[in-house]
Amino acid sequence: MFADVIVDIQHEKLDKIFQYRIPERLEGELKPGMEVLVPFGNGNRRIKGYVTAVRETCQYDLSKVKEIEDISRDSVAIEAKLIALAAWMKEQYGGTMIQALKTVLPIRQKENARIRRRVRLLLDREEGEKLLEFYLKRKNQKARARLLAALLDDPVLEYELVTRKLNVSRTIIRALEEQGVLALESEQVYRNPVKETDRQRPPITFTEEQRHVIGRFRQDYGQGLRKTYLVHGVTGSGKTEVYMEMIRTVTGMGKQAIVLIPEIALTYQTVMRFCRCFGDRVSIMNSRLSAGERYDQMMRAKKGDVDVMIGPRSALFTPFPDLGLIVIDEEHEPTYKSEQTPRYHARETAVKRAQMEGAGVVLGSATPSLEAMYRARQGEYELLELRNRSGNQKLARVSTVDMRREMKEGNRSILSGKLTSLMEERLSRKEQIMLFLNRRGYSGFVSCRECGHVIRCPHCSVSLSVHRDGKMVCHYCGYTQNKPAKCPECGSRHIGEFRAGTQQIEDIVKERFPEAGVLRMDMDTTRHKDSYEKILSAFANEEADILVGTQMIVKGHDFPNVTLVGVLAADMSLYTDDYRSGERTFQLLAQAAGRAGRGDKPGEVVIQTYSPDHYAIKAAAAQDYEIFYEEEIRYREMMGYPPVENLMAVLVSGPDEALLETGCRYLKEYALRARGHSGASVIGPASPGVDKVKDIYRRVIYIKAPGYDTLIRVKDRLEQYIEINSGFDKMWIQFDFNPMNI
Ligand code: ADP
Ligand code: ZN
Ligand code: ZN
Repeated sequence: MFADVIVDIQHEKLDKIFQYRIPERLEGELKPGMEVLVPFGNGNRRIKGYVTAVRETCQYDLSKVKEIEDISRDSVAIEAKLIALAAWMKEQYGGTMIQALKTVLPIRQKENARIRRRVRLLLDREEGEKLLEFYLKRKNQKARARLLAALLDDPVLEYELVTRKLNVSRTIIRALEEQGVLALESEQVYRNPVKETDRQRPPITFTEEQRHVIGRFRQDYGQGLRKTYLVHGVTGSGKTEVYMEMIRTVTGMGKQAIVLIPEIALTYQTVMRFCRCFGDRVSIMNSRLSAGERYDQMMRAKKGDVDVMIGPRSALFTPFPDLGLIVIDEEHEPTYKSEQTPRYHARETAVKRAQMEGAGVVLGSATPSLEAMYRARQGEYELLELRNRSGNQKLARVSTVDMRREMKEGNRSILSGKLTSLMEERLSRKEQIMLFLNRRGYSGFVSCRECGHVIRCPHCSVSLSVHRDGKMVCHYCGYTQNKPAKCPECGSRHIGEFRAGTQQIEDIVKERFPEAGVLRMDMDTTRHKDSYEKILSAFANEEADILVGTQMIVKGHDFPNVTLVGVLAADMSLYTDDYRSGERTFQLLAQAAGRAGRGDKPGEVVIQTYSPDHYAIKAAAAQDYEIFYEEEIRYREMMGYPPVENLMAVLVSGPDEALLETGCRYLKEYALRARGHSGASVIGPASPGVDKVKDIYRRVIYIKAPGYDTLIRVKDRLEQYIEINSGFDKMWIQFDFNPMNI
């Protein structure tokens, strides 16, 4: 028998399959997915590798094929299915097989596993009592007598108890073990990060809509249909309740489920809701668990101790024996896209894994990504709608304030007249307020404060960003122009970079409302562990009247006493330098609006903007996803952006700028040749958002094509070209398909 082995060497260029002979003693035991030790190279160095396949034939000269030395005993064997998934990820997203394997096996080494040791009596009662008598008669055998007496009461004792409570030394235990009196046993204990719960799940009566959605899923699933569903449900429509019910169907059939949640929304409350439903069959993964604890969760899942795994992106690779369902909550969140090679998207990868393992997929969001809705409209996913809040609470009333007019009327403050007076009103009623500064992806665009005009790239229809040298640059195609002194639209001199910070807003608010308690939440105030939760719980306990913050504050928290949400500078995210800015803005505004009026009191939302006529803002104010989608997909169609077409970024970086430029020129030329007659276009090279980090220069080339396959083909050709040209050795080249954050 022979094994295909991929060798784990840091030098990624050795990323190919080697064949080894399987020694007889390992036959039967050796399985795809195992880590092995193999001799490698001329010196037969002993190195680690992964078995990707076991076969009966060998493609190489048999006399030259080496033998596998051993199975690496300190590693976790993973399922062959996950290796197949890794192979797909490598193909789909670029990079090496090793990088892909490392992604699907996030924890390879056993991290200081916890061992539980026990002492077991091997003698029968009669023999034991005889021996005890013997010990008791002797002077220096007291400890032995103590241990034996205890074992006669209870033939299995915890090792700790023996050494601590009975005060029996290790030497004595070992001596008795050698004499065959007792045996030492050890068992690995897997830590459980989920604490006990009361398991009291208040019975709920599903609404008509919820019943319909659950029913559709159940019916399909029962008939053996495994689909991808998109649950489009407004905030508070009971999506989580619906997921739990769907999961129940699956676990009821002896299968397991993975629930992906953005890390920031993976709160104690969410976990508890799942625990009340599934008890201790739930486990979680998050970045706060130690490597050892995470490893333990993987092992518990693999052993069948867990039915439901909740976690962020990486939980997608939980090695369940019989995966039945993958749920992705808030599927539109950009954190589902990995920023390390392979730059996979959890949504697509989940759909692939589910297809390979016969599982279903449920995507959920109040503001679905363009990708998911586009696929649903094309019939690839099944769309399920929840249009009402479960308790029939009303959605908040939303209004927009035109900041250009505020300026004309002489108000230069960051707070509009309307927002200020509503804040006064809420404060006098002892209700709470959230002020949300929309800073996501802030990239220094230039806009006119009088007419709201924003300077954009004439070719790519994204806003230009100001670089340190004062020039304005397009991050897609590299188009550059000088910063104008006057607005090209209205001639005003009030044109410049848009700037505002949470600290600044906090100061203004404190000055304007000296009696109010103000909390601030942003990158600065949440640097410490737990500070995020502390701020949120202080606000939930009504220790402050106003919470000022970045997008962190709009994620999935319920504050029943918040009746006013102010969105400051809604435009900031609108004019980031990428084609998803409209989508991001709509999602953030819709989420922010969802924060107001979660309790019994009705909520109100004020959106301050310089572009009240932009479709993303209008649609968010009307809380109308359909209107937004129609406009946005038209823009994507017109410009050939995803999801209508596909975009591949080739990210090139290195310490030598001149070399980088030459490299990019060659890559571009080669890409132009590799695209053939596919209709793909090659754009750039350009400098990405931050073009130099710690003396490493960065460039990006975009390749846009109607078909994803075309991009894979171009990527494969480029990877070969890079491999055989040593000129690229001093650069890092990564591929990013349909990128999210550049
Ligand atoms: P979403 O995930 O869509 O925001 P949730 O599942 O968190 O919605 O539901 C919001 C709140 O409404 C939760 O407290 C949930 O328990 C409750 N809820 C949902 N559906 C019902 C129902 N049919 N009856 C009673 N309460 C419900
Ligand atoms: Zn202007
Ligand atoms: Zn451009």
